[in-house]
Amino acid sequence: MKTFACKCSNTIFYENTLCVCCGSELGWCPSCNRMTALLPHKDESFRCGHSDCSAVLLKCNNYAIEKVCNHCFTVSAELSRPDGLCDYCDFNDTIPDLTIPGNREMWKRLEEAKRRLLYTLDLLQLPYGTNSNGLEPRLKFDFKSDVVTQANQWWWSLGKEERVYTGHAEGKITINLREADTVEREKARVLFQEAHRTVIGHFRHEISHYYWEMLVKGKTEVECKAVFGDHENPSYANAQKRFYKEGPVGNWQSTFVSAYASMHPWEDFAETFATYLDMISVLDTAMHMDIHQSCDPSQTELTVMVSHYVKLGVLLNEMNRAMGLIDYVPEILVPPVVSKMQYIHDLLQQAAHTLPVT
Ligand SMILES: [Zn+2]
Ligand SMILES: [Zn+2]
Ligand SMILES: [Zn+2]
Ligand SMILES: [Zn+2]
Repeated sequence: MKTFACKCSNTIFYENTLCVCCGSELGWCPSCNRMTALLPHKDESFRCGHSDCSAVLLKCNNYAIEKVCNHCFTVSAELSRPDGLCDYCDFNDTIPDLTIPGNREMWKRLEEAKRRLLYTLDLLQLPYGTNSNGLEPRLKFDFKSDVVTQANQWWWSLGKEERVYTGHAEGKITINLREADTVEREKARVLFQEAHRTVIGHFRHEISHYYWEMLVKGKTEVECKAVFGDHENPSYANAQKRFYKEGPVGNWQSTFVSAYASMHPWEDFAETFATYLDMISVLDTAMHMDIHQSCDPSQTELTVMVSHYVKLGVLLNEMNRAMGLIDYVPEILVPPVVSKMQYIHDLLQQAAHTLPVT
């Protein structure tokens, strides 16, 4: 991610809505693809604060009314946006029940992670199905919370009928709102012995299943099997049962990027894909922050990116340890994992060059 400049030249960030220096409202301008000061214009519209752009903008309704988004759309796009939502909020099918205290704040955290996910997909010029471009499956999001009927019941041990499963099915990514609750998420991380459990990590994992469906299913399954193993045998249900009964395969570190990846080839694909997106996002940020001789992840070969990421990981892990935080890059990218990342890289490069960009 980059940082941006307000009209007062203060540095502003991707999630900001207000400049702490000059008090300007801030938003994302889709015309120049930058965060900008929003200069009041006619009625409820604004002008982009970058003088080389000056596009006339309207705030997304989830910004103006709900306060969970910071994107705008151009006035010229207004007719194609009858619900007043920006291109990223347009993907929401279900939003949380806002009458429940705390839900709006957690929804906002999910939206922030979703915007970062889509930013990275756009950076890689990856296609995804919108309401208008005809690509299948159409990408959709459900943000829902469990129905808690008994006090003191842990959300991951709720009865089946009350539990929202974070997951992907036919283009729709469902995220349990509790994943935006920092305390609950950390409890789950410790319980499941995960090195990381983050909101953005969930989005990156689930979008991987989305791309399996779009790019692999019925198209390149044979090639995918050669890299990740046979996803049809054993079945997903049997593999899941075995994993939760017996745990990850022994010495999983020599072949897999995480313990969970050893459950089934689909999860190996998703965990490897999510690690690939982590790497892209970190290298992109490092490039814009001008640190540690980084590289442009939209232009660089996989092995070169991995080598930069590993070096950067050592640096960032030590930085985190210096502050008493958990490791920044906990994954060990052994050669079999790098081979799988190479497959993902090639698959995405091909998709970026052959399918229409959103
Ligand atoms: Zn300012
Ligand atoms: Zn602009
Ligand atoms: Zn929006
Ligand atoms: Zn998964």
